[in-house]
Amino acid sequence: MLDRREELTPMLAQYVEVAERYDDAVVLFRVGDFYKAFCEAADEVARVCELTRIEREDSTGTYTACGIPVDNAPKYLKRLLDAEYRVAVADQVEDPEEASGLVERAVTQVLTPGTVVEEELLAEGSNTYVACVATADGGSDDSAAEAGGDGARDGPTYGVAHVDVSTGECAVTAGDAAAVDEELARIDPAELLGGPGVDPGVVDGADCMVTERDAGKFAPDAAGAVLDRYADPDRFDAAERVAAGALLSYAEYTQGDDGPLEYVRRVRRYDPRRSLRLDATALRGLELFENHVGSGRTLFDTLDETRSALGRRRLRAWLRRPLVDREAIEARHDAVAAFAERTLVREDVREALSAAYDLERLAGRVSRGRANARDLRSLHDTLAAVPAVREALAGVDALADVRADLDPLDDLRELIDAAVAEDPPQEITDGGVIRAGYDDELDEIRTTAREGREWIAELEERERERTGIDTLEVGYTQVHGYYIEVTNGQLDKVPDDYTRRQTLKNSERFYTPELKRREDEILGADERADALEYELFVDLREGVAVESDRIGALADAVARVDALAALATAAVERDYVRPEVGADVDEIRLKRSRHPVVEETAAEFVPNDAALPRGTVALITGPNMSGKSTYMRQVALAVVLAQAGSFVPADAARLPVVDRVFTRVGASDDIAGGESTFMREMRELTDVLHDATADSLVVLDEVGRGTSTTDGRAIARAAVEFLHDETGATTLFATHYHGLTDLADEYDRVVNRHFAAAERDGEVTFLHRVREGAASSSYGVEVAELAGVPDPVVARAHDLVAADREGGGGDGAESPPDPAGTDDGEAAGGDGQRTLAEVATNGHDRGDGERDGDKDAGPPAVRDDAVADLLADLRDLPLAETTPLEALNRLHDLQRRAAEAGDGDRDDTDDDATLDGGRP
Ligand code: ADP
Ligand code: MG
Repeated sequence: MLDRREELTPMLAQYVEVAERYDDAVVLFRVGDFYKAFCEAADEVARVCELTRIEREDSTGTYTACGIPVDNAPKYLKRLLDAEYRVAVADQVEDPEEASGLVERAVTQVLTPGTVVEEELLAEGSNTYVACVATADGGSDDSAAEAGGDGARDGPTYGVAHVDVSTGECAVTAGDAAAVDEELARIDPAELLGGPGVDPGVVDGADCMVTERDAGKFAPDAAGAVLDRYADPDRFDAAERVAAGALLSYAEYTQGDDGPLEYVRRVRRYDPRRSLRLDATALRGLELFENHVGSGRTLFDTLDETRSALGRRRLRAWLRRPLVDREAIEARHDAVAAFAERTLVREDVREALSAAYDLERLAGRVSRGRANARDLRSLHDTLAAVPAVREALAGVDALADVRADLDPLDDLRELIDAAVAEDPPQEITDGGVIRAGYDDELDEIRTTAREGREWIAELEERERERTGIDTLEVGYTQVHGYYIEVTNGQLDKVPDDYTRRQTLKNSERFYTPELKRREDEILGADERADALEYELFVDLREGVAVESDRIGALADAVARVDALAALATAAVERDYVRPEVGADVDEIRLKRSRHPVVEETAAEFVPNDAALPRGTVALITGPNMSGKSTYMRQVALAVVLAQAGSFVPADAARLPVVDRVFTRVGASDDIAGGESTFMREMRELTDVLHDATADSLVVLDEVGRGTSTTDGRAIARAAVEFLHDETGATTLFATHYHGLTDLADEYDRVVNRHFAAAERDGEVTFLHRVREGAASSSYGVEVAELAGVPDPVVARAHDLVAADREGGGGDGAESPPDPAGTDDGEAAGGDGQRTLAEVATNGHDRGDGERDGDKDAGPPAVRDDAVADLLADLRDLPLAETTPLEALNRLHDLQRRAAEAGDGDRDDTDDDATLDGGRP
C-alpha cells in the first residue's frame, strides 16, 4: 500500500502519513460519525472489536475499512485497550466548512492501557498507573552512571516512577532490582515503560503491558528537560530524574503532545522504607486487594465504607502502604476514634460526601481542556457539599487539621454557579451553556434573537389580518429559512411586498424584506451567541484550571476525611478495637482476635488470642482445616490494619510497629506459573531470610512442603533456627513437621501452639481454638479414633506412630531417613495433614507397607476395606474442585494405596515424590 502512496486518495494518503508517525498504535480517523481505520489496521480493529470489515474500491484499487461509531466509542476502545493496543485518535482540527479540500486531521490523544483518562474507560475507585523503570545513564555506556538512591544490595540502581494521568498523581523513587520488583507490585501499573539498560527480568516480571519508547527519551538531558517542566530536577537522584522525565514525556505524548500537563502539580519523591513493606507475595497471601480462592472477598472489600471515589482510592493507598511512623499511626487512630465515637458527625459527613464527584479527575479534565459544562457543574456541586462536611466536623479536636484543609473554594463555586447554566447540554459548542446575567454582550445578543423570534411569532396573526388570508402560515425550514405560506386558492390576495421563495404543489412560499431582515438578525445572533458562549466557557475553564492547586488540596482533604470516616464506620459496624501501638509495646498481644474477612462469611467464627513477645517463633501444629492458616493471617492482618490507621478485629490489641510483613505459603497449588513450586517456595524463603529484621513479622505456612519429608523437615528446621538466632523476626510458622516442636525445648523464644479436633455432640469437629503446646504427633490417629475407625486399627496405628518416633523420624534434620513405609502419608500432604475425611477412611493404611504380599498382609477384612475405601475415594474425588497438583498428589496416594492393598510391590513407590516437579 505504501508503495502506491502517490496514487492514494487524499484521505488515505493522510491516514498513511499519520499511521507512519504513530507506528506503535492503531490509528483511528474521525470521519463524520465514525472513527475509521483503514487497511491492515482495519483488519485488526474489526477482529478485536467484532466489527464488519468493508472492502472499498476506488480508482487506486481495493482496500479495507472499518468504522467505530463515535457514540459507542468507549465500548470498542475498551476492547482494543484490553487487547493491549495503543490507539491514536486523529480528530478534525479544522472546521470542515472552512477547509479547502481535505480537512486537516491530527492525533489529539493516544489511548493506552496505562494512560487513559476517559471516564468510561477507567475504574472508578482505583488508580490507573503507568510506571517507568530507568537507569541513571539512560542506558548509554559512555556516560558514567551516577549512583542514585541508597541501600542498593547489589546491581544497578534504578529509578521507578509512576503517574496516574487521569488525576495527576506522580511519584518517583529509586532502588535495586529487588526493590523495583517490590515497588512495581505495590504500584500495580496497567502499563510499564522500560528504559534501555534495564535488566529485562525487571520489566518482564511485571504483570502488565510493556511499552517501548525511543531510547532518546531516556537520555539524561532529554528526560531532565521534561522533568524540569514539573519540578526542580536537582531534587532527584540521577536515576529518578530519568525515570520521571521519560515517564512524563510519555504522558504528554499520550495527551496529544501539546505541552506540560498542568494538573500534574508535583512529582513526589518517596522512600518505600518509610512505609510498612508488603511485597507481591504478602499482598497476595493476605488477600488485601485480590482474592484467588474462597469467598471472593478481599480485605479492601470488607473495609470499604467510603462514600466517594477519592476516598476509595485513598483507602486503597493506605492499605497498600501502611505507615511505620508511630506518631502518624496514632494520629490516624485518633481521627478514626473521633469518628467512631460520634455517630452523628460520621453520618453527616458521609451523607455530604455522597454528593462529591471525583474532584481529581474533574480537575484533570479541566486542565486538559476536556471538561464540558456538566463537568464544571459537577465541580460546583462537589464544592457545595464541602461546607456541610466542615460544619459536621466543627468542634472535634482530633479532626481539626483535616477540617482546616477543607477549603470550600467559595470564590470558585460562586463563579461557576454564576456562569454555567444549571442543566447544561453535553456539547459546549451548541449554546445553552452560559447563564443569563453572566456576560452583557451575550445577554444583548440573546435579547436581539429573542425579540426577533417574538416578532416572527406574532407575524402570522398580523399578516392574516392585513391580507385577509385566513389559512396563511408562517414556518421555517433549515434550507430555506423563514417563509409565509399561502395556499393556491388564496394567491390572488397576496400583497405586493411578498417575494416568492419556493413553489409547492398546493401552495407558494414567500418572504418580505422585513422578514428577511429579522431572519438574518436572528440567525446571526444565534451564531454569535453560540460562538461567544463557547469562548466564555473556555475562558472560564482556563480560569478554573489555574486553580488546580487549590482543587488538588481540597481533593486531598476530602479523600482523607472519607477514608477516615470509612475506617470508623467499619470499626463500629464490625466491632473493631483501637490498637495500642505505643513505643513501649514490644509484643503482639491480641485478645479474642478475628480474621476480618473470614468472620464475615463463617457461620460462627471462633476468636483467638495471641501473645507473641518480639522475636518469638511460634510453631503452630494441628490437622488440616483446623484453622492454622486463618489464625496466622489474622495476626498479620491486625498488624497491617493497625499501621494503615484502622482499628482491628479483636477485643483488645497491643501491636508493635513492624517494618515488613512477610508471608510465604509452602508448595501452593500453582503449577501454571512455569517455575517449579518448590523452587519458588525456596526463592521466597531466601528473600525472607535475607531481608527480615528484628522488626519484621514473618508468616510461614507449611514451608518445606514442596519436597521430600526429610529434606523439607531439614529446611524448615534450619529456617526456624536462622530466624530465631540471626534475624530475630517475630514469626508464625505453621508446620506439619512434628519433629520441629522439640525446638521449643532448645530455644527460649520458640513456643508451640496447636489446634486440635474434638468430639462435640457425637461429631468430630474442629474447635478452631488455638492452644498452648504442640499437637500430639498422632493427632491424625486420634481424629481417626474420634471418627469411629475400629479399635484394632487405631491401636495398630498408635504403635506404628510410636515406632516411627523411636526410629527418629520425628527428630528433624539430623535424623536418618524414615523407616520404609512410614513416610507414605507425606505424599498426600504430610504426616497428619490429611483431611478429616481421609483420616476417617484411611486411618489404618499408615505404615501398611511392612505387610507386603498376600501371606503377610493384615487381616483380610482390613485389606478388603482398604480396597473398598480406595474405590470410594476414587469415586468421590471432586474433580471440579481439584487443582492439577492436588489431583496428581491424590493420584499418587491412590496408586500407593492400590499397591499396598494389592500384591504390595512397594518398590514402585517413591517416597520423595510429591509430584509437583518440586526437586530443584
Ligand atoms: P488449616 O490451615 O489448619 O488447614 P485453615 O486456616 O485453612 O486451616 O481453616 C480451614 C477453614 O476453617 C477455613 O476455611 C475457615 O472457614 C474455617 N476456620 C478457620 N479458622 C476459624 C475460626 N477461628 N472460626 C471459625 N472458622 C474457622
Ligand atoms: Mg493451612
